[in-house]
Amino acid sequence: EAPLMKVENVHRTYRARKRGTFNTYSNVQAVRGVTLDIMPRENFGIVGESGCGKSTLTRLLAWLETPDSGSIVLNGTSLGALSSRDLIRKRNEFQLLLQDPYNALPPRTTVGRMIEESLLIRGSFKRADLRKRVIAAMAEVGLAAELYDQLPNALSTGERQRISIARALILDPKLLILDETLSALDQREQGRLIELFSKLQDKNDLTYVFISHDLAMVRKVCTRIAVMYLGEMVEIADNRDLFFDPQHPYTKALLSAAPTLEEKPFDASDFLLEGEPPSPIDIPAGCSFASRCPKAFGRCRVETPRLVEHSPGRLAACHLLDGDEAQAAA
Ligand code: SF4
Ligand code: MG
Repeated sequence: EAPLMKVENVHRTYRARKRGTFNTYSNVQAVRGVTLDIMPRENFGIVGESGCGKSTLTRLLAWLETPDSGSIVLNGTSLGALSSRDLIRKRNEFQLLLQDPYNALPPRTTVGRMIEESLLIRGSFKRADLRKRVIAAMAEVGLAAELYDQLPNALSTGERQRISIARALILDPKLLILDETLSALDQREQGRLIELFSKLQDKNDLTYVFISHDLAMVRKVCTRIAVMYLGEMVEIADNRDLFFDPQHPYTKALLSAAPTLEEKPFDASDFLLEGEPPSPIDIPAGCSFASRCPKAFGRCRVETPRLVEHSPGRLAACHLLDGDEAQAAA
């Protein structure tokens, strides 16, 4: 089966003013050579600490920013090759949902109108059908039709989240990119939305990308997970493999540090996560995790490990996995 979204060697660097200066800039290497295949109907998770480049990658996947190099191909079409006119149409196929859409929603617009606008902006609709389509989208996400004429300020975060899901759904997307979408919700509302996402997936053949720092949520929801560190993917694996038999020292450290994960099948005490990641302005030579890695050895500081498939479906970027354990011990 062909991937729904193919991310190939995507890089993104941006310029940021140096602290305490007016006109000196540094290059922040936010995303460094990310390659991913997102398969139809999967729940793909992307995890990492804040500052790892998740936000930039999210904006790239949603094509709100374009990569400096590399490509993103959706359903066989390279987004970078589209004219702006074709891109507008293509955008219906992939939608970004934010953590709390409240700020993104116009405050004096009714619920119905907000969902309607989504269609109006993107074109294709019949005026006469508009209200019917909006009510249908509301029903699909579990919003009562009575809310049609209400303002969003009286609604809960969960209801506002449903509005933004309805705004996306009405365009008949293939892929939903969820940026911490479930993080602001309490457990009960989170559970309900997870149920809704799963129902919508069965009905509409949806594919989800969950970008989150919440490992417990990702473990509950995602079928396959990529772990990001300093702008790169360091491990990609199926849910079970990642949580029960993580390969990369950073993944082990991340799982050890997660307060919400109860069972830790490996010896978590070996993998305390200490210190801060290096600055994305000064990326060190060799493995970018070496400064915090309890297993680092000589080669790690000079040679960058590549993300390699060590067993079927399990990718990791670490020299230890090349059978260099002996060298590490020496
Ligand atoms: Fe640690 Fe070396 Fe593996 Fe990097 S390559 S994660 S420093 S053991
Ligand atoms: Mg971030």
